[in-house]
Amino acid sequence: MKEAPISGDVQHVVKRVFIKTYGCQMNAYDSARVIKLLEPLGFLPAVEPDHADVIIYNTCYIRDKAAEKVYSELGKIRQMKIARERAGGTMIVAVGGCVAQAEGAEILHRAPFVDLVYGPQSYHRLPELIGRALRKGGAGIIETNFPIESKFDYLPETSATDGPTAFLTVQEGCDKFCSFCVVPYTRGAEYSRPVAQVLSEARHAFEAGVREITLLGQNVNAYHAEGPDGKDWGLGRLIRELAELAGLDRIRYTTSHPADVDDELIAAHRDVPQLMPFLHLPVQSGADRILRAMNRRHTADVYRRIADRLRAAQPDFALSSDFIVGFPGEREEDFLATLNLVEEIGFAQAFSFKYSQRPGTPAASAEGQVPESVKSHRLDILQRLLKRQQRDFNEACVGKTLSVLLEKRGRHDGQLVGRSPYLQSVHVAATDQAGEIVPVLILGASANSLSGSLAKGCRV
Ligand code: SAM
Ligand code: SF4
Repeated sequence: MKEAPISGDVQHVVKRVFIKTYGCQMNAYDSARVIKLLEPLGFLPAVEPDHADVIIYNTCYIRDKAAEKVYSELGKIRQMKIARERAGGTMIVAVGGCVAQAEGAEILHRAPFVDLVYGPQSYHRLPELIGRALRKGGAGIIETNFPIESKFDYLPETSATDGPTAFLTVQEGCDKFCSFCVVPYTRGAEYSRPVAQVLSEARHAFEAGVREITLLGQNVNAYHAEGPDGKDWGLGRLIRELAELAGLDRIRYTTSHPADVDDELIAAHRDVPQLMPFLHLPVQSGADRILRAMNRRHTADVYRRIADRLRAAQPDFALSSDFIVGFPGEREEDFLATLNLVEEIGFAQAFSFKYSQRPGTPAASAEGQVPESVKSHRLDILQRLLKRQQRDFNEACVGKTLSVLLEKRGRHDGQLVGRSPYLQSVHVAATDQAGEIVPVLILGASANSLSGSLAKGCRV
């Protein structure tokens, strides 16, 4: 790791940092690294903003609601900052992540008390930026140019750990330019971290007691980097290497793009027992006409074939997905094609959204914008279907023995909560096996979770 630039003013002036994270797991990973990055400078995490000297909003721009939440949160923090300064104290307010990247100066215009605005590729510079903000006292700093250096070379080697599970970002950015999506503009061009760096971070995670790792990327299966053998390694090859690390029991990856599911990845699902039989593979729409307008580079049939191949490679395979309803030009028959695809494939879980116009993306100014009422109606129909499938999938687990990684205490005494291979939350009558993977006989199912008891003598 290279040394991140530090400003002298930071040391011993501010002591507590509060981070609020919006959006995806990659933001959660980034926030955990910011905490680690500021730790050597004497910062401790604060649970509430009113105890903090530095407040950071790590933001998401993917849909308009996500962006608006940030402004409403900033409105609340303003009074707190005024009160602190009246009492002679200091409070630095920073907005980072994708809203910061996309809106830059607009944030300072709408919330002039913000001290610092920085993009998702610049957070390794935070020690220096916070120092500058302290010195500047008032005039906001904007750091949204894409830096030439990779932030990963400057970040502490630690994973975003939460008990026995960890996220590990291996890929970032996107070159696909789906016509609805801001990611290529906010996160920048596609970038894969070197294999050696990924393996080293994974080793650190296992040494810290992690049993399950989730490889992250905006398009994680577009991962490709030079391996120790000098050859180009894709995600499937990387997963095989990670599976060789002693102590690693579970591997997941998210989010994937159907166009990048290659033979090597499917073979990894067949051959690597640690690779979970579950994949979040967004389809967005079941209509080819809409997929073309979205610039998705796959048809609905490509998606069906991938689902079949994954199920052939691992017979107990389950899928989750993302759907957008009301994309510009979406007709009733296109929406019906989406419903048909959902019926045909069958999803264990899924996320579905109303299309949201994102500034600067081609679809935002496309003809045929769908009225809000139609979007709401379609979303309601789709979500009912997806909820029914999720409940059916959960109920089909009753009577089976699933391996569960127990993560933490449940709400009731004598109960631990963990995750099944399919990411279902499982409540287990158990007390002292937190951090272990145990076989659980599933006795009950609801729409969102399972319950069961330890199945003695079963293999996981
Ligand atoms: N890279 C993944 C892929 O291509 O499938 C998706 C990553 S994106 C950060 C997460 C999800 O947000 C997308 O799958 C999509 O369903 C949703 N999304 C992105 N832009 C959207 C928009 N403008 N309106 C509604 N949903 C959107
Ligand atoms: Fe956005 Fe995913 Fe499309 Fe990239 S591939 S532009 S991240 S939806």
